[in-house]
Amino acid sequence: MNEWNIALGALVLLLSLAAGAPLSRWYFAPTGSHRTAPVDNVVPLEAFMRPQAAETNDVGWCPAEQAERLHAYHPDKSRTCWTCRTVTPAGVPRV
Ligand SMILES: [Zn+2]
Repeated sequence: MNEWNIALGALVLLLSLAAGAPLSRWYFAPTGSHRTAPVDNVVPLEAFMRPQAAETNDVGWCPAEQAERLHAYHPDKSRTCWTCRTVTPAGVPRV
């Protein structure tokens, strides 16, 4: 008789697990309520980093940081540091 009770308990346990899995999946299903709202006016990184006409990127001396940094070289030979946004006029020598 004891073995029947164990077998019955195991059967009840298996049936509750089989029924509980879909119920828990339904209860914890994502609703999307935790998602952030989409942001307007987002500029893609590729468009943001794309140099304008006749501009190139190259490493140059940044006088503000006293170090070589990546710069955007403009058509008038001035350059803008990509790190600190310092604009260096055309006459400053490039080291
Ligand atoms: Zn800089």
